[in-house]
This record gives sequence, structure tokens and C-alpha cells, in this order.
Amino acid sequence: MSDHDFVSGSKPIGLARGEGPSLYTADGTEYLDAGASFACTPLGHSHPAVVDAIQEQVGELTFVDSSFPVQSREDAYAAFVAATPDGLESAWFCNSGTEANEAALKFARSATGESKIIAATRSFHGRTMGALAATWKDKYKEPYEPLAGDVEFVPYGDSEALADAVDDETAAVILEPIQGEGGINVPPAGYLETARELTDETGAALVFDEVQTGMGRTGSMWACQNAGVTPDVLTTAKGLGNGLPVGAVAVRDWIADGAASHNATFSGGPVVAAAVHATISTLVEEEWPAHAAEVGDYLVDKLEAALGDAVREIRGEGLLVGIELKRGANRVARDLAMNHQVLALPAGRTVLRLLPPLVIDEGEADRLVEALTETVAPEAASES
Ligand SMILES: *Cc1c(COP(=O)(O)O)cnc(C)c1O
Repeated sequence: MSDHDFVSGSKPIGLARGEGPSLYTADGTEYLDAGASFACTPLGHSHPAVVDAIQEQVGELTFVDSSFPVQSREDAYAAFVAATPDGLESAWFCNSGTEANEAALKFARSATGESKIIAATRSFHGRTMGALAATWKDKYKEPYEPLAGDVEFVPYGDSEALADAVDDETAAVILEPIQGEGGINVPPAGYLETARELTDETGAALVFDEVQTGMGRTGSMWACQNAGVTPDVLTTAKGLGNGLPVGAVAVRDWIADGAASHNATFSGGPVVAAAVHATISTLVEEEWPAHAAEVGDYLVDKLEAALGDAVREIRGEGLLVGIELKRGANRVARDLAMNHQVLALPAGRTVLRLLPPLVIDEGEADRLVEALTETVAPEAASES
């Protein structure tokens, strides 16, 4: 499979259909999706509200340039800005997370007139030349150097190191409120507030990358709301269109006013806009973020009770859960898939990441716990 694709690799599970948190092979074998969709389907696979909105829009008007008002685009912008924290009053749609971060760094530079970017160790912001420059892993960067940007890295979660790094020449501090790809790292209390204070003092833009943490996953619409901190720029993507390729940047007025020329041909295309509008409306009206908080707490409590000393740590917020294992996460993910039909994701060498659709119920959480217990703590599984 996928011989034509020379970068993605391939797994020996051909998927044909999805519904809710489940994925099915062509012959009907069901898998529980706790990571296969990479946080891109918060409402579950092929959610009817989103499918209907896309189908209606694609038949009506598939594409026109973003300078022409189109109802689905107007609705998507209104819903998105209403769903972002107070203070972020303007937005721009793009096509992916990396493109949202690329735009965020450009807007921060033009609004501040500065160029220095501060990013964190173990960060992931995407793979275009600017977003990649702010990404930590050398493996992703070195073969492509020189990259585009004057980036200084500080240890994630270390307020003092951040205070030493931020100065009058800083254009932006870019942080994930909880690091995803880097291992589900939750910063110490007060870290995001410190970042807010430091950037307020020096006039730098505070950029929160909520590409993975956003859209209700952490129990609030945005993870920064759990910490009570509003950035100057918030980027998101992944779950924004419940599976369609779309990203967004939400900004405070001073960033919007200072932003120079920037755009993209497919920005806010009518079809992805219809998906965004349907996704946000459904998430908000049906209160899925609160559900994510509840099921997430339930899941983590059960995991802690079942896995105990068999793992090093369980961390995260809502349905963004990381399990620090005592062995390789790749192997555990493979065993879960092959023996238990549960699809989870590694985040670094020893962290297993659970990113199920927000619509999972307690029964599905129990199934995750059982599969994990049998995989990483078989003694505990045979006792119970
Ligand atoms: C996935 C991710 C990105 C990149 O998004 P793409 O849509 O793959 O370009 C950026 N930041 C974070 C935190 C992510 O998880």
C-alpha cells in the first residue's frame, strides 16, 4: 500500500469507513480510534452535521476567491471568533497548522518590527521553513538548514529561563499551552502567566499554538482558558474542520492592525468553511468540551488505578492524555493495534499519546483502559 508516497510510511491496517470513535476495515473489523486521526475529528468520524454541511456546500459553490463574501465563510469566521477567548477579535483561515504558525510569526514580526522568536525545547510547530525553525527536533531540521528565522530555544516550563530570554528585540514567544508531539508536557502552574507578563512588559507578541490542544480537547475550548491566559495570537488547525484541511489564526487588534500583506489562495474556501461552521456550532451547542473534561478525568482515574507502578506517569488535561511508559511507545502502540484493535500514538520514545474523538463514552474509555492494562500491566489484568 502507498508505494507512491515516499514520506508517510504505512501501517498494515487498511481503513475504509469511520463512525463516531470507531474505524473499520473493508472487511468490517472495528478499531477504536485513540490517535489514528491525530486530534482531527473531535466530533468523531464522518459526523452527520459536518457531512451534511460539506455536501450541501460542495454542490452549491465549491470555490471562489476569499475577497468575495460567501455565506459559509462569513458564518465560519463569526463562529470561530465567537469561540476564541475574549480579546481575540480578528481571524484568518489557512490550510494547516504549520501555515497558521507561519502566519503567526509573520504577523508578530510585522506588528512589532522585531525579528527574534523565542520557542521552547521539545516544541512542535510544523514543517514549513519558518514553523520548522521554531520546532525543537534536530532530526526534522538539520537536513533542511538554513531555516527561516532567528529563533532562540528555552527549556519548556522554566519561567526564569524565559525571563532571561525575552527582551525588547523579541518579536514573539511561541508556546504550546501543553506540548503535544513533544510528549504531552503540562507546564508548571504560573508558566503561561509569566509568559504573558514578560511579553506585556517588552511588547513582544505571545503566540499560543493550539493546533493540537484546541477545539475542546482539554476540557475547555482552548487550553489557555484552563490557565486563564489570553495570548496575542492563537493558532489552531487539526480538529477545526473535523477532518477537512483547515487552520486558523486569531489575533488581538494590535496584531491585526500591524499585519502586513499575507494571504493564501484557498483561505476560507466555502467547503472547508462549511465544515468549520458545523464543527464549532456542534461542539459549542452540544457542550463537547465539558464532556471531554468529564470522560478525560474518568479515563485518567481508571488508568492510574489499573496501571499503577507499571508506568512512570500519566499526564494531560481532558482527552489529551500522555502515558510515560517504562518501555518503547512504538512497540506498545503496535501491540494495542494488533491485539486489541485500539489505535494510539507515540509522542517521543517512551510516551504513548491518547487523542480519541471527544465523543467517546465511559464504556469506550473502559475499553482503552483494559487494552492498556493487558498490554503494559498484564499481571494486574490477570488479577482483576
Ligand atoms: C500538528 C501540529 C502542527 C502542524 O500542523 P499541520 O496541520 O500538520 O501543519 C503544529 N503545531 C502543533 C502543536 C501540532 O500538533
